[in-house]
Amino acid sequence: MIKGKLKSFLRPAYYRLPARICFGPSFQPTLDFLEESQTWGEDRLIEYQISKLRVMLRHCAEHVPYYRQLFHQVGFDPGNFRTLSDLRALPLLDKDTIRARLQDLLADNISHRQMLYFTTGGTMGKPLGLYNLKHSSGRERAFIYTQWKRVGFQHGDRRAVLMGWTVRSNRHWKYDASERAYVFSNFHMTPQNAAEYARVIRDNKLPYLHSYPSAAIDFAGHLKDLGMEAPRLRSVLGASENLYPGQREFIESFYGARLFSWYGHTENTILAAECEVSNYYHIFPEYGLAEVIKEDGAAAEQEGEMGELVGTSLDNFAMPLIRYRTDDWAVIGTGRCACGRCYRLIKETHGRRTQEMLVGKLDNLISVTALNMHTDIFENVYQLQFYQREKGKVELRLKRKPGYSERDSRRIIAALDEKMGDTMEVALNFADDIPLMPRGKFRFVIRELDLPRSVFDEVRLEKSSS
Ligand SMILES: [Zn+2]
Repeated sequence: MIKGKLKSFLRPAYYRLPARICFGPSFQPTLDFLEESQTWGEDRLIEYQISKLRVMLRHCAEHVPYYRQLFHQVGFDPGNFRTLSDLRALPLLDKDTIRARLQDLLADNISHRQMLYFTTGGTMGKPLGLYNLKHSSGRERAFIYTQWKRVGFQHGDRRAVLMGWTVRSNRHWKYDASERAYVFSNFHMTPQNAAEYARVIRDNKLPYLHSYPSAAIDFAGHLKDLGMEAPRLRSVLGASENLYPGQREFIESFYGARLFSWYGHTENTILAAECEVSNYYHIFPEYGLAEVIKEDGAAAEQEGEMGELVGTSLDNFAMPLIRYRTDDWAVIGTGRCACGRCYRLIKETHGRRTQEMLVGKLDNLISVTALNMHTDIFENVYQLQFYQREKGKVELRLKRKPGYSERDSRRIIAALDEKMGDTMEVALNFADDIPLMPRGKFRFVIRELDLPRSVFDEVRLEKSSS
């Protein structure tokens, strides 16, 4: 990857340099490879995964102390690895284990200088630190560009970015030539700034809005209130957050463009994206091995079955994650997509599901997704957030629009009472601003107490009542 100083010196011309120089040596080969591998049949894809895993498992046995010990304990021999299901002989790897054994999870034949340290949001506000290879970013970018290509995006296309990137400027937006991106701060979304952002997008004819869904909705809400039309877009590239009922419909109808959504995480073990013709997430088999594991430890395989996403990295040799528990949930889709790719399908994902639960008076778990906010009761609200510190009580923070009245409060309380009954007391709290998380993501639920039991129980309850 090109060094920062050179990068800023070359700024205007930077994007015209060969991709190898901009994004590192792994970018173009990965892009070319994915172009071809998406046409492969199922058997060939599985064969590819097995060969990659064999190399990874051998590396783990030889160079990663944690796995050397684990393989010995459970009698696992990478030399005998033949089918993907052989991996199930190994236990799942959770975040607490990573925290406790971080140093043992690093490969002893790769120097620290070649590694990149990063953190990801853990549960209960405890971030998790991890390592990857420094040059992995080019490969990562190739995967992202490959999926965006399905809605027309080409390497070199410009885009508007509204997803928590830092903007140090009084006008709260900047042009980043190295990314060909107009970056807008979603920490400063006021009516005045929203109007300015829309003007910049329109004047520069930016075809793509790369945004958290919550930020695209917040932006749209302001423009609507100002009586402004949406900028003309080819697609909204919506990343990194759960999609709640109604959000896709709202974004697509306001912007008059398709919302293209995908699932990914900073740990880089699983990537799954929609395609040209479907809103199902297609799991990239070339990226990592994804399993969907039910409560009883068996793999979810039937249409509509739900389980936790468990990922195994095929390329992170610095800190291999084998059967890593993501804390994210997926509902399986079966069959083959009309696009022709032989990728496995996911109907929906629920990221960080355990964080999206409220605890009722009876220790009952209430999924905020299940509250189904797709009604007009929040039409006079810019933003809302549930905040819980004790069981049976929740504070609903509301950022009100000018037209908000007592009637809105009554309707909101009545609707939530109907859903949660007498197991939850709801108090409304009007806020001028609901702060975003450090990386600019919006959290729908902030809960400062532990769940009384496994979230799997709640899944069962939801299923039996539906
Ligand atoms: Zn498809």
